[in-house]
Amino acid sequence: AFDGPQTREWIRRFADSVYATEAELTSLDQRAGDGDFGTNLATGVRAAGLLLDRTDESAGPAETLGTMATAFLDEIGGTSGPLFGLLFQALSRAAADSGPGLTTAALADGTTQGLAAIRRVGDASPGDKTLVDALDPAAGALRAAGTAPPATALATAADGAWRGVRDTASLSARMGRASYLGERATGIPDPGAVGIALFFASAAGTVP
Ligand code: ADP
Ligand code: MG
Ligand code: MG
Repeated sequence: AFDGPQTREWIRRFADSVYATEAELTSLDQRAGDGDFGTNLATGVRAAGLLLDRTDESAGPAETLGTMATAFLDEIGGTSGPLFGLLFQALSRAAADSGPGLTTAALADGTTQGLAAIRRVGDASPGDKTLVDALDPAAGALRAAGTAPPATALATAADGAWRGVRDTASLSARMGRASYLGERATGIPDPGAVGIALFFASAAGTVP
């Protein structure tokens, strides 16, 4: 299971990957939305980082993921802020239920619950060209990972999410601002789906 420091390291890597791709994410949202997705996601990880700097180094996975949820649910605008917040909140709850360490089973539960909450709130289905298209295969991969160590399971989740990202490029959007563009957004991967893939990919390389 991931301990507290490993979970913090995952979040730190996620923040770094968001800063590194902020301009690219913004450019995708310029071509298929209103151009603020990179800023929204970077604002979220920056706000979370400031909160995490003030929490004790000994904080466990549930507390770290709960801090991410608070930052994204309370402080970030756009459609994506609250939706990412719901994922982090579900992961935090699953981590709290599973004991001190973050297990693969808790990651599978939390991601599955987070996907369900996002679908309830946002009403998107797979194939609508949203972040659901990356989160759905990631959740499936985590459920299929069984008792594999978290880093291995999260690597398969990242693979699934990236496959979902590639699929969004060939779809025309049915939800969110990209849907206003109709066929004009076809060929462009969904920026929110890329953000989800970055999240799972950032955990790979963290020691199981
Ligand atoms: P906004 O459109 O409010 O500017 P953002 O730019 O922050 O929102 O986020 C855009 C991303 O949000 C999209 O790329 C898509 O993945 C996701 N999204 C938009 N609408 C929905 C929805 N109804 N359900 C799930 N995800 C959505
Ligand atoms: Mg936008
Ligand atoms: Mg916006």
